[in-house]
Order: sequence, then structure tokens, then C-alpha cells
Amino acid sequence: ILLPLGILMAIFTVSVVIWFSRRRLSPLGELKIAVEHKEFVLHYQPIVSLKTGACIGAEALVRWQRPDGSMTRPDLFIPLAEESGLIMQITDQVLDILVRELKPFLNANRDAHIAVNLSAQDIKSGRILPVLQQTLYGTGIDNHQIWLEATERGFMDVQAARSTIDIARTRGHAVAIDDFGTGYSSLSYLQGLPMDALKIDKSFVDTIGTDAATASVTTHIINIAKTLNLKIVAEGVETQAQADYLSARDVEYGQGWLFAKAMPANDFVAFYHKSRRQLDSDVPAS
Ligand code: C2E
Ligand code: MG
Ligand code: MG
Ligand code: MG
Repeated sequence: ILLPLGILMAIFTVSVVIWFSRRRLSPLGELKIAVEHKEFVLHYQPIVSLKTGACIGAEALVRWQRPDGSMTRPDLFIPLAEESGLIMQITDQVLDILVRELKPFLNANRDAHIAVNLSAQDIKSGRILPVLQQTLYGTGIDNHQIWLEATERGFMDVQAARSTIDIARTRGHAVAIDDFGTGYSSLSYLQGLPMDALKIDKSFVDTIGTDAATASVTTHIINIAKTLNLKIVAEGVETQAQADYLSARDVEYGQGWLFAKAMPANDFVAFYHKSRRQLDSDVPAS
């Protein structure tokens, strides 16, 4: 009876020590440990065709799952991760998790894609190129199944961004500009930086049906994307009215709570198949 008791005591002591040592850490210190201990998980938010409702893939969104089980949203730690350079290790872990969780799915569903968020540093340094190559090597996943997205900040250093993006696109990855319209250099670099898709930020989608002036900005963004031959993904779609407005203006894809929130890999795979089965059964028998 003493042996199990001793083990219990030891576990208890170790837990208390860990708890105290973590409590005294700065936010950066905590994040460093999270990176070391790989405390990140991915949720996938479906992206659907506005015309058919079929799911075409998802965006991988990182969460920090602390040892106590609580989830921390990315906007609470990504800025610190970018400031400190830890973001690059987080990007690596995101890609590792993605491959681990969705390798069979992506091999079985060649039309499906997953979009990954890159930081400015991943793009500027070009380091993301060998990382992608190494992570995807031998997995059977096609490069065209992995989309890369980054906010305007990621493309600010146009010269550096261009070579990374050109190479990524040559290898088959699609590149999307994220949160479009929220930055400040919107138009100038878009012309000189060939890309595949543009994601309209939620703040513009929010104005559809409420604020006529800003909603017309949304229409302009759509026109810019069309002119530049970019596919459009509208993010943060919450109402059917917004989906209808966007669809009527030939916006191809939507992402938002109207369709689904971000979810674990298994749930996403089920969502994907269900949306496609529905599609098949909607087709009238001839
Ligand atoms: P984002 O790429 O613009 O991601 C969309 C965010 O909006 C997600 O929040 C998503 O859950 C949320 N969202 C989607 N649809 C709706 C909706 O209908 N209503 C509302 N209210 N919210 C919606 P999340 O997961 O908290 O991500 C926040 C941001 O963190 C992301 O913005 C992205 O910029 C960043 N992020 C997430 N994962 C990563 C990552 O792996 N690497 C990097 N560098 N950044 C990431
Ligand atoms: Mg994104
Ligand atoms: Mg956004
Ligand atoms: Mg976005």
C-alpha cells in the first residue's frame, strides 16, 4: 500500500512544482513552453460553395490548449508569437498537425483543400518553402490541396514576398490574401503580386444589409477581385441574406457561422461528406 501512495505523492509534488513554476512565467515564457511542449491543436472551419452549399475544404485555425484543458484563441497569442519569432515554430507545428490529422482525408478527396495561415516572417524569409516541401514529402497530399493565406502585412515587403509566392504557386499551392480591406496598402501591391484568391474580411460582410455606404465598398472589393481574376472567399458569413447578396454578385465561396464554426478534424471530415451527399441527393434523377 505504501508504494502506490509514494507514487501518488511524487506525482502530486511534481504537479505542484510545475504549476508554481508556470505561474511565475511571463506571457512570452509561457508561450515558449507551449511551443516546446507542443500544446497547439487545430480546428477546421469549412469553406463552402455559395452556389451549391458543397464544402470545398477548410481553413486550419490554431488554438492553444493549455495543460489544464482550457483553449486560448489565436488572437490572444499570435501577435506575441509574431513579435518574438515563435510564430515560425508554430507554423511548423500547424503543418505537422494538419498532415497527421488529414492525410487519409486529403488522399481520398483530391478536390478538397486546406488553407493554412502564414505569418509575414514565414513568407519574407522564404523559410516556408523548404518546410512545406519537407512536411508534405511522401504524404501523398498534392501541393494544390494546401492553400496558403496571409494578411496584407505578409505581403508588405513586396520584393521578398514575390519570390516566395512565385515559387509556392509554381509548385501548385494556391495563395490567398486574408482579411482583405483591413490593411492600408491594398491596391498597389495587388497588381504586382500574382495571387489566386482574396478573402473579404468579416468587417465588410457584416455591413451587408445594414450599412449601405460600406456595403458598396464590399461591392468594389468584389469588382477588384474579378478584375484581377482572383477567386473570392467571403469570411464571417452569418446570415442567409449575406450569403444571397454575395452569391448574387458571383462570389464563389463563403466561410462563417451560417455554415459552420471551426471544429475538430473528425467533425470536419463528416461535415465535408454530409454537404456533398446532400448535393448528390439534390440532383433530380433523370
Ligand atoms: P482569420 O484567418 O481571418 O480567421 C477567421 C476568424 O474568424 C477565425 O477566428 C474564425 O473562427 C472567425 N470566424 C469565422 N466565421 C465567423 C463568423 O461567422 N462570425 C464570427 N464572429 N467569427 C467568425 P480565430 O480562429 O479566432 O482566428 C483568429 C485569427 O487568428 C485568424 O483570422 C488568423 O489571422 C489567426 N490565426 C489562426 N490560426 C493561425 C495560424 O495557424 N497561424 C497564424 N499565423 N495565424 C493564425
Ligand atoms: Mg485566415
Ligand atoms: Mg478576418
Ligand atoms: Mg481571414
